[in-house]
Amino acid sequence: MKLAFLGTGSAFSPERYNGAVVVDGRLLLDGGAPLLPHMKRVDVDPGAIDAVFLTHFHGDHTLGLPTFALYRIFVDPRPITFVGPDGIEERLETLWEVSWGVDWKPVMHPRFRATYQSAQPSGEAAGYKYEELVEGADVAIVEATGPGDVFSHMSWEAAAKLKKRHPKTHFLWNHLYSGTVEGAVQDLQVVEV
Ligand SMILES: [Zn+2]
Repeated sequence: MKLAFLGTGSAFSPERYNGAVVVDGRLLLDGGAPLLPHMKRVDVDPGAIDAVFLTHFHGDHTLGLPTFALYRIFVDPRPITFVGPDGIEERLETLWEVSWGVDWKPVMHPRFRATYQSAQPSGEAAGYKYEELVEGADVAIVEATGPGDVFSHMSWEAAAKLKKRHPKTHFLWNHLYSGTVEGAVQDLQVVEV
C-alpha cells in the first residue's frame, strides 16, 4: 500500500501544510489545501480518486476540496464519492456554493458526478470496504498535534499512550503543529507499507 502525504500539519501550523493523504492513488483522506499541486508533485492523478473520506468539517481538512471539485467537473468528470460525518452533503454543497458563487448551481453542479454518504462504523463506499478501528490494524495514521493540552485534538502524550496499547500496529503521526516526534511523517512524503 502506498500512502502519499500531501500535508501533515494542524490547522494553523506555520511549518506544515494542512492534512491530506492519498491511499494507493485512489482514496483521499481529508482535503486540506492545497491538493492539486501537491498531487502532481507526488505523481497522483486527481482524476483517479474514487472516494474522499473526511474525518470532520474543520477548514484545514476541507478547504482544498473546492478546487479539487472543479478539476473533477472540468478536467476529469469521473464519478466520486464523499464519505464523512452526518450532514456531509449539506456541508459540502454549501462549501461549493460559497467557493464558486453564482456559477455553482447553473454551471458546475449539474456536471459534478458526486455522491455523498454518512460514515458508519463500517461500510462500503465506491467499492471499498472501510471500518473504524485501531485494534487489529497493520497501519494507523493518527494525529499528534503537539505536547500538552491541544484543543479538540490528540496530544503527543495521548498518541504515545495509544501506540503503547497497540504494539503490533505501525503508527504514522500527522496533524502536527510544530516540531516533530519520532514516527511523524513529512509533507509530500510517500510511504510504502
Ligand atoms: Zn485539523
